[in-house]
Amino acid sequence: MDLHALTIAKAQKLLASGKISSVELTRSLLDRVHQYDDRIGAFITVDDDQALSQAKVADEIIAKGDQAPFTGIPIALKDLLCTQGVKTTCGSKILGNFVPQYDATVVEKLKKENAVLIGKTNLDEFGMGSSTENSAFHLTRNPWNEAYVPGGSSGGSAAAVAARFCCGSLGTDTGGSIRQPASHCGVVGLKPTYGRVSRFGLVSYASSLDQIGPITRDVTDAALMMNLICGNDPKDSTSAKVDVPDFTQALGQFEKNSLKGMKAGIPKEYLGVEGIDPEVVTMFEQATKILESLGVEIVEISLPHTQYVVATYYIIAPCEASSNLARFDGVRYGIRDYSSQDLIEMYKKTKSQGFGPEVQRRILIGTYALSAGYYDAYYGRASQVRTLIMEDFSRAFDQCDFILSPVAPTPAFKIGENTGDPLTMYLSDIFTLSANMAGVPGISVPAGVTAAGLPMGIQMMGKRFDEMSLLRAGFGFERALDNGIDNKTAFPVL
Ligand code: GLN
Repeated sequence: MDLHALTIAKAQKLLASGKISSVELTRSLLDRVHQYDDRIGAFITVDDDQALSQAKVADEIIAKGDQAPFTGIPIALKDLLCTQGVKTTCGSKILGNFVPQYDATVVEKLKKENAVLIGKTNLDEFGMGSSTENSAFHLTRNPWNEAYVPGGSSGGSAAAVAARFCCGSLGTDTGGSIRQPASHCGVVGLKPTYGRVSRFGLVSYASSLDQIGPITRDVTDAALMMNLICGNDPKDSTSAKVDVPDFTQALGQFEKNSLKGMKAGIPKEYLGVEGIDPEVVTMFEQATKILESLGVEIVEISLPHTQYVVATYYIIAPCEASSNLARFDGVRYGIRDYSSQDLIEMYKKTKSQGFGPEVQRRILIGTYALSAGYYDAYYGRASQVRTLIMEDFSRAFDQCDFILSPVAPTPAFKIGENTGDPLTMYLSDIFTLSANMAGVPGISVPAGVTAAGLPMGIQMMGKRFDEMSLLRAGFGFERALDNGIDNKTAFPVL
């Protein structure tokens, strides 16, 4: 049996029945990481000893029959999530030596169930990017074709699932960073509603947009991970006090009623966007037909402020980032320049050496846009447009249960292809950014492969706190496609 190919759901069954042990499963995944991750670069930190000792404890718990759903399941974590005693770099030189004293709430939840934490995954520095090329440490390559990017910023987390280095992973999504790499790597990614998952211990990029969510092999696993990570947390004042359903019930709803009665809205502004790849358009049309065949009614909707989404996001996110990143000053965390003669010089040198070019660019944009005299013209104005974007969504949801779109206008691009052109890189976020600005959930589900063999996903965005509809429709779609993406062709080294 290929242990590394197991989904979370299958691993749970095999662990519970005693057919496999968590130590065996963890070893097999670690072996793979050591065999192939030189080529893929999914991880920044892998701690075999910690993972194996967690697996051993998990096996003892399972032997007593006291296990929780994630006991013994190996999970990888984006290196933007604080892990007590384990280096947390955020993909940045400035935190290259940072070892947190506490766990993020989501990490605590995994530990409480005795999950196995297999390692910390690579990312664009502080989550800023769409290709994982902005990591201060190394590139991550797409397991489907190593000449291509895995997407980003959670590219390491998506590549780790696609390359079968873990059963599932956690990523974070500020403007698409879970959904877009999931799409480019042929796996499932879910950005929950803002407030669904505690951000405590997630190093902030843009606090009003950031959310943590699962990246998994299939929709069932996404539901299982949602059951674990969601819920109110007094340590995060933006975390919502709403009930957490059993998300796996969404899957049963599909089995009972197919998708009859559901309405999907297709924004008329989306398919006309400049630069959309014809293969993405064809994939999207086919996906729409599949959903129709399952009983979904397709309606045309309008999100009239779509043309302002990228500009608005790239004011709001850098403004919040410039404020959040001010704390990395060489005094409290991470590296410090010791050659300086005075405090200001030390700040300047530490930041110049510690932050990479994309992060510096965003700090400059954000600081400029927030400065006296400019605030109203930029941040103030962008916040007003954000309200209009939110209103577009509420109006659209009067007509449909979820909004259907491609995840990204193009499949994964070649490594280095867009690095010299930040604007093209920013434009590639066009379909994912609005869910963060409106605070609504979005899921990315594999939907096809290009002629060149690169995966593409479709996105479904739902009403606030209605992840259930996304999981139900996503599960139905996945079933109909019969895992249409042939995962066996992934990662030719297999
Ligand atoms: N690509 C977007 C950015 O660079 C989104 C990143 C994210 O979701 N963390 O800001």
